[in-house]
Amino acid sequence: MEILRVDNLTKTYGEGNNKVNALDGVSFRVNQGEFVAIIGPSGSGKSTLLHMIGGVDQPSQGKVFVNGKDVYNQTEEQLAIFRRREVGLIYQFYNLIPVMNVVENITLPVLMDGRKVNEDRLSELLTVLNLNGREGHLPNQLSGGQQQRVSIGRALMNAPSIVLADEPTGNLDSKNSQEIIELLKLSNKKYNQTLLVITHDENIALQADRIIAIGDGKITRDEVIRR
Ligand code: ADP
Ligand code: ADP
Repeated sequence: MEILRVDNLTKTYGEGNNKVNALDGVSFRVNQGEFVAIIGPSGSGKSTLLHMIGGVDQPSQGKVFVNGKDVYNQTEEQLAIFRRREVGLIYQFYNLIPVMNVVENITLPVLMDGRKVNEDRLSELLTVLNLNGREGHLPNQLSGGQQQRVSIGRALMNAPSIVLADEPTGNLDSKNSQEIIELLKLSNKKYNQTLLVITHDENIALQADRIIAIGDGKITRDEVIRR
């Protein structure tokens, strides 16, 4: 089943002499449950692409469909709900709220939705993410690996159909990096959740089902990994 369709996506920043074509006519489709690695040089448009899929940044041209829904053909309110429920974003530097503890950070998207926290899901996530006993800790009381596990918890709490990770291991050593990837793969396989990961790490890219390479705002390679 197709979960994501990116159609002729183009993004231009700035004007006149400062104009940058961050993305230039990118099109591809992703099926539910696929794990796609997005690779390419710095500045090639990878983050821009992920943000547009995540409903964070409006395209200049082209369309993004998630679950058949035209992401940017929604009201602001619908778009905000889309960002909290249908996609889960994970960043290199975690983007946790410093004054909120582990549980508060993980449940933030649910509370912002005005919904009740599913305690069973929270407790399952804390266990899977190996954060038991850390519930009341603030981000600055946690190691980098633990902080990234909290940000994974926040991304997964609402069981989104697509998880979007922008260099999730870019700030971690190789042991912690592999741990994070294993957690993302677990949720990908167990819940048939679609996973898009931007990475510079070849070892991580080779664990994906498919690699899309971006160069200068265009797709330069799109191939399925055969094992
Ligand atoms: P990557 O993630 O592959 O490193 P980005 O998507 O971050 O690439 O950036 C692609 C291009 O768009 C770069 O030239 C970058 O400088 C430019 N760019 C990204 N975000 C902005 C912005 N908010 N304003 C202006 N230019 C931007
Ligand atoms: P990791 O093996 O994940 O890199 P560290 O070696 O950084 O972990 O930390 C070892 C333990 O100390 C971890 O369980 C972590 O929770 C705890 N810890 C790390 N930094 C702090 C801190 N600033 N305050 C309190 N506890 C911390």
